[in-house]
Amino acid sequence: MASATVAREALLDVRNPRTGEVDLRLPISSRVEVADKAARLRAAQPAWEAMGVGGRCAAMARWLGAVRARAADIGEADAVDTGGCHTSYLQGFITMRNVAGWLEDAPKAFESLKWEGVSISMPTVAVESQVVAYPLVGVISPWNAPLMLALLDAVPALFAGSAVLLKPSEVTPRVIETLFATVREVPELAAVFDYVTGPGEVGQAVIAEADTICFTGSVPTGRKVAVACAERLIPCNLELGGKDPCIVTASADLNRAATAVLRGAVYATGQVCYSIERVYVDKSVHDAFVAKLVEKARAVRLNSDNPRAGHIGPFTFAPQAEIVKRHLADAVAKGATIVTGGEIEDIGGGLYLRPTILTGVNHDMLIMQDETFGPCIPVMAYRDTEEAIRLANDTSFGLTASVIAGDAEEARAIGRRINAGGIFLQDTFLTFAKLRTFGSDSFGWSGYGSPRIGPESLRRFLRRKSLLTQTGPVADIQNDHHLGQGR
Ligand code: NAD
Repeated sequence: MASATVAREALLDVRNPRTGEVDLRLPISSRVEVADKAARLRAAQPAWEAMGVGGRCAAMARWLGAVRARAADIGEADAVDTGGCHTSYLQGFITMRNVAGWLEDAPKAFESLKWEGVSISMPTVAVESQVVAYPLVGVISPWNAPLMLALLDAVPALFAGSAVLLKPSEVTPRVIETLFATVREVPELAAVFDYVTGPGEVGQAVIAEADTICFTGSVPTGRKVAVACAERLIPCNLELGGKDPCIVTASADLNRAATAVLRGAVYATGQVCYSIERVYVDKSVHDAFVAKLVEKARAVRLNSDNPRAGHIGPFTFAPQAEIVKRHLADAVAKGATIVTGGEIEDIGGGLYLRPTILTGVNHDMLIMQDETFGPCIPVMAYRDTEEAIRLANDTSFGLTASVIAGDAEEARAIGRRINAGGIFLQDTFLTFAKLRTFGSDSFGWSGYGSPRIGPESLRRFLRRKSLLTQTGPVADIQNDHHLGQGR
């Protein structure tokens, strides 16, 4: 007699970044499960869209209340996923700000898209616009800032009237389940917002089901996502890596510059897409700047004893430590000097790196070309402003850049010539400052598609239709009087 075979469920091992132990195993969503979830979301989406932006705002306001009640749990879960970066504990609050911001902005965004009038070229034709949401938006997100980067696209998509199927990073899936406990408190929202778990193949399964994709992650994966979307002829929005420069001029306040550069480079262990990854300093102040930076860097504490206490957590994703190690070894082999830091420390299973400052670097080194994604600060001297701008622009990326000069005018003149989407003057890390007000494009390999922040980012999830009504007589084929009537 043939024995019955039971298919074994594929499991995802989730490593705890503080202990190095696999302390969670989650089922990997199969293609069939992804397709089933997509079908359920698709079936519920028309009712969500029919609620209108006002109805959706009412549901999202109830969700905001649920998030507020669980904000601390969300922060804790994010901290376990990431190893306890500063921002992790703020994730409940950041989610609330994101939703509250769209409660204000979404109705205005819809209002700004309304259009009614008469055709200029055919004056007997009345025109009105209609916007319709893409039914199913697929969101594929990375392991750094796992909640914020999942919701940056999902929240405006939901306000737009789309259903959303999220595929969070397989490295940091815990916070998503904590979040969905709040989603389930609002049944209308739970009907149109769901997630699946697993590695890249699950991301591909989402692309196979969705009507448009928002992807945040690395350049190599971004290329694969773009190809898969092109095969299906669906739009994709890609938010990719960075190699963001900071220029410090001779007239800059060096204390201010060192403070801003250190924070911009090592915040969240440097695992931020817009971390400062290259510093160019006027040669006349190079040594003085490095001395100040080193002094400040040596005061930075690891959070290995207490995740809430120190400044730098462990690497969230262990293989990232290997990439950082490779970049450091390559730089040293090509003549760079590590002035402070440089050793990956295994503390209780977590992999840590103290702020690592390098001098004597050049553009032949990986650390000046590829994304390092660690708390490393390579500092290079430049001769004059033209050289500084040339070096800053000598990159495949163009996410953000910073300029710290003697005054804002000097910084602005340099900043206007750098090819990047966000230019921070007299400080670093100002991305949050522009979230609500306006978006910006990414240059080079850093992105593709429309801006993901600012009020217009909601447009990515809407298609515009024109309804054209003939109010005059219809033309006959022999005498098409419509053409040539108007302007
Ligand atoms: P990654 O590219 O390895 O993975 C990102 C997501 O894509 C994960 O969910 C992964 O499972 C999924 N994926 C992997 N292969 C796939 C495939 N073939 N098809 C579909 N999905 C697939 O990136 P990561 O290491 O998780 O994240 C770090 C990267 O993200 C860095 O390069 C960083 O700069 C970038 N990032 C960019 C921004 C931005 O806004 N520009 C923000 C944060 C992070």
